[in-house]
Amino acid sequence: MVEIRVPDEELVRRLGARLVCRACGVTAAPDAPAAGRCGRCGGDLVQRADDRAEVVLERLRVFARDTRPLVEYYRSRSRLREVERCRVTRRGVRGGVAAVAEAGR
Ligand SMILES: [Zn+2]
Repeated sequence: MVEIRVPDEELVRRLGARLVCRACGVTAAPDAPAAGRCGRCGGDLVQRADDRAEVVLERLRVFARDTRPLVEYYRSRSRLREVERCRVTRRGVRGGVAAVAEAGR
């Protein structure tokens, strides 16, 4: 099991800044929103309801309650690899996981 560790405040900040297109649903690149318009279809960019800070904090509480014990289970059996503070991008996560897999060989 691989745990990708990102500080809660960074998750809240990054998810709070994420915008999706109301029309086509695509997630806007962080640096993309030109005048709040979707780069694909020109639709309005809006925040997802579940990306609001209070909702993200509740999701983190649910994770801590329901999933954290599973993480500890794998840690106690030395079956857990951790990726610390990787960049929260697809490339950053992929690179962090690849580095852990490489180190485990
Ligand atoms: Zn769109």
